[in-house]
Amino acid sequence: MAHAITLIPGDGIGPEVAEAAEKVLAATGVEVEWHRVETKPESLVADVVASIEKTKVGLKGPVTTPVGGGYQSVNVALRKKLDLYANVRPVKSMPGIHTRFDDVALDMVIFRENTEDLYSGLEHEVVPDVITSIKVITRTASTRIARAAFRYGSRQLRKRVTAIHKANIMKLADGLFLRCCREIAADYPHLAYNELIVDNASMQLVTRPEQFDILLLPNLYGDILSDLAAGLVGGLGVAAGANMGDNYAVFESVHGSAPDIAGQGKANPTALLRSSVMMLEYLKEAGAAAKLQRAIELTYRDGGALTPDVGGTGTTSQFTAAVIRNLNAA
Ligand code: NAD
Repeated sequence: MAHAITLIPGDGIGPEVAEAAEKVLAATGVEVEWHRVETKPESLVADVVASIEKTKVGLKGPVTTPVGGGYQSVNVALRKKLDLYANVRPVKSMPGIHTRFDDVALDMVIFRENTEDLYSGLEHEVVPDVITSIKVITRTASTRIARAAFRYGSRQLRKRVTAIHKANIMKLADGLFLRCCREIAADYPHLAYNELIVDNASMQLVTRPEQFDILLLPNLYGDILSDLAAGLVGGLGVAAGANMGDNYAVFESVHGSAPDIAGQGKANPTALLRSSVMMLEYLKEAGAAAKLQRAIELTYRDGGALTPDVGGTGTTSQFTAAVIRNLNAA
């Protein structure tokens, strides 16, 4: 039976990378019934929510967010309305993408809590020039992100979960986060569990990134360290991500709408294709997911069709055609 999937092409380079993903997914042989939602700023969130409530799954290109005023970030709104509490970002080295860490193969997955912490938007001006910004940490949110990380680790035969915190200073808030992580860790004795203070974790991510497997973080530390980790393996342009809840999941490219190169055929669709691999795994199409992952890796290994951002001279359509050729050859 065909999988119903909401496609949000987005704007800027979004439609170009979304078209690449549609073509490549068709070539995997997995049947998809696309529900397309075009970018209309006034109604985008309502239209996407209505569609995903039916399909349960979304694939999303980047959407421009106006700075200062205007409408709310679509990502933040979707997260709230669909209760997508886990931001999941795989961080995996790929042959052909050269980084400072070419000599080590990195393969970690970051689970970032997506709904609370300093992102609750509770800020007050107590008296002029004195502001408080409230950090909210709850047992409910901490427990469900910890459970998501351990469940994933267990299913994917991972070895270790590392919780990251600053409980030496924020004893109550981060202390509660850690207590919840420890309680869930006790249910998964076959997975090793350790804890690192966020400043030390940042240093170790740069000096010995190969030691990490699954990272489990509250919202703010997760936001910062997931971009740092993406930088270890080639940057945001090739990074995949997903926002997941108990009922819905939205898979997206991590990069923005890149207005500087939109419409020029230079956009690299790798991020959305890697997010499509995650989506196929979520849809229990493990065979197609593995084939697509391999086809992307082969395209990088060959190197002939790479786009300018990763050092090539290829176009979006040449890169897409190369991935499809490698899929068909697999
Ligand atoms: P950006 O990611 O759009 O661009 C940063 C740089 O990376 C640019 O030079 C761009 O050309 C390059 N780049 C990004 N993706 C690329 C790709 N796939 N292929 C080749 N080059 C790529 O970041 P920005 O300029 O800060 O943001 C532009 C707009 O996108 C803003 O309105 C921002 O709010 C929005 N944004 C949306 C999302 C999202 O929807 N998930 C995420 C980040 C930013």
